[in-house]
Amino acid sequence: MAAIKHRRTALERVEKFISDTYFTDCNLRGRLFGDRCPPASLSYFQTPRRIPYGEAVVQEFGPAQVGESFGPTWETCWFKVELSIPPAWAGREVHFVWESDGEGMVWRDAQPVQGLTKEGEKTSYILTRSLKESEPHSLTLYVELACNGLFGAGKGSMIAPPDPDRRVTLSKAELVVFNRDVYELLVDLEILLDMAQLLGEENQRSFQALYTANQMVNVCDVTDPSTFPAARDLAAAIFSQRNGESQHTIHAMGHCHIDSAWLWPYEETIRKCARSWVTVVHLMEHNPELTFACSQAQQFEWVQRSYPGLYARIRDFVAKGQFVPVGGTWVEMDGNLPSGESMVRQFLQGQRFFQQQFGRICSEFWLPDTFGYSAQLPQLMRGCGIQRFLTQKLSWNLVNSFPILKTVKNNKDKGRVNHSAFLFGFGDGGGGPTQKMLDRMKRMSDTDGLPRVQISTPDQLFSVLEKESSQLCTWVGELFLELHNGTYTTQAQVRLPFPGKGTMQTQLQAPNPPALGLGFCCWCERSTPSYPFPEHLPSVLNRHQIKKGNRECERILHDVEVLSTLAVAQDREFQYPSSQLQQLWRLLLLNQFHDVLPGSCIQLVVEDALQYYTEIRRAGAQLQEEAVESLCKDLLQPEEGGTQSTLVLNTLSWERTEVISRPGPNGKETLALVTVPSMGYALVQEPLVPPQPVVVCDAEEGFITMENGVISVCMDTMGHLVSLRLMDSKRESIADGCANQFALFDDVPLYWDAWDVMDYHLETRKPVTTVLEPLKVILGGGLRGSVRFSLKVGKSSTLTQEIILDAMCPYLRFQTQVEWKEAHKFLKVEFPVAVRSTNATYEIQFGHLQRPTHWNTSWDWARFEVWAHKWMDLSEHGFGVALLNDCKYGASVHRNILSLSLLRAPKSPDSTADIGLHQFTYAVMPHQGSFQEAGVIQQAYSLNFPLHVVPASCASCAPCPAWSAFSVSSPAVVLETVKQAEDRAEAVVVRLYEAHGSTVTAWLQTSLPVQEAVLCDLLERPVGWRSLPLEKQGLRLSFTPFRVLSVLLVLSC
Ligand SMILES: [Zn+2]
Repeated sequence: MAAIKHRRTALERVEKFISDTYFTDCNLRGRLFGDRCPPASLSYFQTPRRIPYGEAVVQEFGPAQVGESFGPTWETCWFKVELSIPPAWAGREVHFVWESDGEGMVWRDAQPVQGLTKEGEKTSYILTRSLKESEPHSLTLYVELACNGLFGAGKGSMIAPPDPDRRVTLSKAELVVFNRDVYELLVDLEILLDMAQLLGEENQRSFQALYTANQMVNVCDVTDPSTFPAARDLAAAIFSQRNGESQHTIHAMGHCHIDSAWLWPYEETIRKCARSWVTVVHLMEHNPELTFACSQAQQFEWVQRSYPGLYARIRDFVAKGQFVPVGGTWVEMDGNLPSGESMVRQFLQGQRFFQQQFGRICSEFWLPDTFGYSAQLPQLMRGCGIQRFLTQKLSWNLVNSFPILKTVKNNKDKGRVNHSAFLFGFGDGGGGPTQKMLDRMKRMSDTDGLPRVQISTPDQLFSVLEKESSQLCTWVGELFLELHNGTYTTQAQVRLPFPGKGTMQTQLQAPNPPALGLGFCCWCERSTPSYPFPEHLPSVLNRHQIKKGNRECERILHDVEVLSTLAVAQDREFQYPSSQLQQLWRLLLLNQFHDVLPGSCIQLVVEDALQYYTEIRRAGAQLQEEAVESLCKDLLQPEEGGTQSTLVLNTLSWERTEVISRPGPNGKETLALVTVPSMGYALVQEPLVPPQPVVVCDAEEGFITMENGVISVCMDTMGHLVSLRLMDSKRESIADGCANQFALFDDVPLYWDAWDVMDYHLETRKPVTTVLEPLKVILGGGLRGSVRFSLKVGKSSTLTQEIILDAMCPYLRFQTQVEWKEAHKFLKVEFPVAVRSTNATYEIQFGHLQRPTHWNTSWDWARFEVWAHKWMDLSEHGFGVALLNDCKYGASVHRNILSLSLLRAPKSPDSTADIGLHQFTYAVMPHQGSFQEAGVIQQAYSLNFPLHVVPASCASCAPCPAWSAFSVSSPAVVLETVKQAEDRAEAVVVRLYEAHGSTVTAWLQTSLPVQEAVLCDLLERPVGWRSLPLEKQGLRLSFTPFRVLSVLLVLSC
């Protein structure tokens, strides 16, 4: 018996012995399956809908053939398969083999039993492990085949838009005898071959593995199974050579990352969950050691609703500790864009679901695949009962590698910790672990030269890591992902059907806008005389944007909760709409999934998401109306001799004085300046007179100036700000006399189209300079001054902007409409300001953080495009300029230029992304002092949470009532949320946070009848046993920087 003389020939010899391509007539692989037998009959029925089993099986089935193809994309075929196992196969293991490029589910006796996905290496369903004579030899299976692959149906490449005409082929459907002894030997040889190849020539074990494999081929006669045990003994001998004590331990857990929507719609995900999880449950029945970590409460809820039988089996394995719910959130949300309150609700909805269904909350936050991680996450996790966090996406960083990553091969904590996680199973599109993965791991559990592998749970892994945690490094601040920075902007989104004329896209390509000729709006079905921006357009547009939909629906749910809570506090008869709100929150949270809100999904998903936003707007508007009617019923009922007046409601926690628009005597909108108390309302009869009106002046050469006593602005014919001054100090804010400059960039990433904007796009900047309509005055001053202009952007897009200055308002507002028809372009607006600072400040969830304005190091320049919420600010000592927005998230500040990212036009995976009409508003606010002292945070809230205006009536003699439910003594503290406590109708939860980055004590005052106040965590569980003293000034609350505090207020009956 020879030693190996030539490494390569020995390696290839073993390779060929187990190859599924070469020499299958005489090698071991060719013996995996024995006799075959076609189904006794095969028939099918096709439907465009995803229907339940019961509905499917009563349909009429027509004949089907192996080799036939089915489709098109997104259709479903139900196959009826009648099988008859030959009696001669007694004692043999029999599989039903099904191969197709669609995703399949096997149903038996009306229950789902096995997912079949070729890309997930699952093509067979085990009918029996050893056929007994007493077993039924004839049976009927149904196979539900989705006409899409594991990764959807991208045309040409995975992330390309789906090919609507793709068909899937049924390439195999048969009964086979499965030779398990061949399979076991194959697994042995595969591992030995891997060891030989992957451990490398400098490793002794590599040669030992190869030597053993070569010997096994010598010993093994593929035609004589009696030779197999000797070969297997050789393998067992090398696998059982143990490691020393120092060896690294890998904690293996089954997992299956299922995107809640991505290259397929939400509806398909429900089936992906069932296909993946039924397979896991089946594996668990035969492998009691298997664990499976499973995240996203929404997916559990889907399976509970659509597959109750499967869900019951899952619950059993949860109880056994094998099926392990993880993550604690409703979905694996985007880690950047959801608001602070939305993030809290992700956990609140998720953890409550897990508690209700499985009797425990999750102890780890699970976010493997999101595009960044807010600096606020650690505090929010902890407030929701979670200390532990798992992710992997940071390994995608393009420029800098994070120093605290752990991967099996490239563990950054070598020497510090000796344990790491290994999640096994096909993922993204579902799939999950396979039997072979388990069989491989069993062999490698403790083999010299390989890390120890133990099947583990997240809890076991984190428990051992926590013992060594003093050795680990700490990262302070956000975990910024240096990739996918386009997702802050993609799918600002408009796509509207044109009545009877196909999609809006075709209509935009028409040489003449058809709207005028047809006499109705091109964006909706209302008739309209005006083009391109009919007057009702804002309301139409608002229904059709993902990023804007998110911001707007966060606002709607906030306002509904505030107003409904106040209505209950005033009148216990009023029913707080808790179940409707839960439903609406869940829709919003679902849309925050990490491929939906970021805009990296296909068009079908966008349409679903927009529908959910529409539902939130519709139901939200109704709930809000009901709350206001109850809260202010005395004021809204027309009174004998009462006069027309206006009820104005404020859902923010500070008093506001603003210009509102209200219906006037002849039905025309009129402006009024009003003051409304914090979280309350005022009935306005006589509007206020501003200390100084807005003055608008035409100056020379088309320049126009506006001023309101707070700021003064001068604009050129293109709408550039040539000057913006604080009137008190005369301080000029604008550098180089050219702010509000639009710029267009080429935006061609390397691969991930909707996801990435690359640094080199900055080298392609082209300022927008073509005027369509020069600046002209629209409103001449008084309570409001405004001017308007239009520009041509790129080849065929147009931008119209109204620049608005209100009396007493510290900011200048830019109400913008863009008709966007570009491809691979990026539109930004730039404000070069007369401020010098090495850091700019950006709002994040419940706070803000600073990022550099320079590109000194790779860590600095890799953040050339970052995200922010409602505002960003560049300040030096005593002065600064803030840029506010109502629905944008992409931003950057380089040197002294603040840029807001407005629109992108990627083509994959949605070729229609963002094409259409957009409306958004941003505002510029120069200020003295710091942004905290100047109230930038409050002004950004006000821009996002407009006052509610309701026509009312009041007795002419009575003093007009004003009422405030809550106020906070410190401007550093924001009262963000007011809601009814979960499951406690008599209690209210208020959530406040410190927004300045300071340590401060604040008084929370309320006019609600509070009986008891208790601090609680974000899951609304009381913290500590003592209630807070109710003092004359209210509740005394102490904050450290960015601290989020929740208080449970029990109301007296
Ligand atoms: Zn994902």
